[in-house]
Amino acid sequence: MEVKSLAQTSPTALAEIPFDLDGRAREIQAAARGFTEDVLIPLEEEAERRSGRLPDDVVAEVKREATAAGLCGGLHSPEHGGQGWSLLEWSLVEEQFGRSTNAIHWHVPNAYNVWGHASDDHVERYLRPALRGELRDAYAVTERDAGSDPSRIGATAEPIAGGGFRLNAEKWFVTSGDVASVYVVMANVIDGGAKLPTLFVVDRSCPGIEILDDPAFTHSYPDGHPTIAFRDVEVADADVIGGVGGGEDLQRSWFTEERIGIAARCVGAMWRLLEETTAWAAGREQGGSRILDYQGVSFPLADSAADASAGRLLALMVAELADAGADPKLVHNKASMAKLFNSEAAYRCADRCVQAFGGRGYLRSNVAERFLRELRVDRIWEGTSEIQRLIVVRGLERRGVERMLH
Ligand SMILES: Cc1cc2nc3c(=O)[nH]c(=O)nc-3n(C[C@H](O)[C@H](O)[C@H](O)COP(=O)(O)OP(=O)(O)OC[C@H]3O[C@@H](n4cnc5c(N)ncnc54)[C@H](O)[C@@H]3O)c2cc1C
Repeated sequence: MEVKSLAQTSPTALAEIPFDLDGRAREIQAAARGFTEDVLIPLEEEAERRSGRLPDDVVAEVKREATAAGLCGGLHSPEHGGQGWSLLEWSLVEEQFGRSTNAIHWHVPNAYNVWGHASDDHVERYLRPALRGELRDAYAVTERDAGSDPSRIGATAEPIAGGGFRLNAEKWFVTSGDVASVYVVMANVIDGGAKLPTLFVVDRSCPGIEILDDPAFTHSYPDGHPTIAFRDVEVADADVIGGVGGGEDLQRSWFTEERIGIAARCVGAMWRLLEETTAWAAGREQGGSRILDYQGVSFPLADSAADASAGRLLALMVAELADAGADPKLVHNKASMAKLFNSEAAYRCADRCVQAFGGRGYLRSNVAERFLRELRVDRIWEGTSEIQRLIVVRGLERRGVERMLH
């Protein structure tokens, strides 16, 4: 017997959580669930066959559906064209998106949260069009010698006499850097002996920008992650976001949100993996029994169910803490804990599910195979698991064990 479709296996009722979800949160969750099941999941195999790149007309349709479902720019303010969701509401949406493979949700119109700190002019030129799905941004921090350790960033922004800055940088792994119309670039303004980490808005049309390499990666993703050179690129004083020297603070708040988002998407991945694999194992017979009746198959699924359930509570609790205005440092530490736990658990879950599918689990048409490749990067980007552990340990020492655990 072959795998049942998702529609046959998923319950119709929304997943209940022990959080006080109001009507609006439930509506948002339902919209994201419908969009994921009706739009994203049916496109997965085509996206995989095309190495992640769907045709333009299909992408346009995904954007239209997302707009109609009210899912664009979730965390951005309504004044800027976003939805003004809380982090809890956003996490519920990311959880649904996480149930689909190939990151097709990346086409849902959105923009990095730093635009909330940008000038009115930048909001008009970049943020509003991004939330309408007319352009994409990219965020360039990592370099050849600066990954986990941003203090090694070599990018410089030299003040120009008469105003503005001259930017020189080589940025690595710039997600959507191949298609972006605008980059947010981290560079050090040199002020005497001091290096002031600063975020700059750099329009793609500026002279001096060159894509040096657009390598293939393990996952089949909608866009590339190219290496980009910025050579003597001139930007205006007004192109600084968050003030000169304000780059690290903005970066920290971005990391907190992104890590909660990854934690939520990993819960969604485990949810889908367990649905599909339980259905398969209950239907597959070998050696005179359903393979679900063999503990070698079923116990790993039980362990992943426990991980998913615990990870879900952790991710949503951190989101709710952030919404309640808890100490941002504590939230930062706990967001790292949620990202660490859920990304490691989701990868384990995908590996277990591949094993339960046997040879079928090694086919690219199989959801567990795709998740196994796609979830790997969640243990690397937005800070590796080792860096999350460092942040958690710092939290244990500075915030105290009790605050970190409760
Ligand atoms: C697909 C993809 C997309 C990405 N998109 C973007 C993007 O859009 N923008 C962007 O700026 N960056 C992006 N990145 C970069 C990503 O954030 C970095 O790869 C990540 O932070 C790790 O940095 P690194 O690759 O330089 O590894 P390194 O920092 O060199 O780490 C190598 C290994 O050493 C370990 N390590 C390092 N320091 C320590 C320590 N102090 N203690 C213990 N272990 C340590 C790490 O955990 C890791 O295992 C992307 C990366 C990938 C793979």
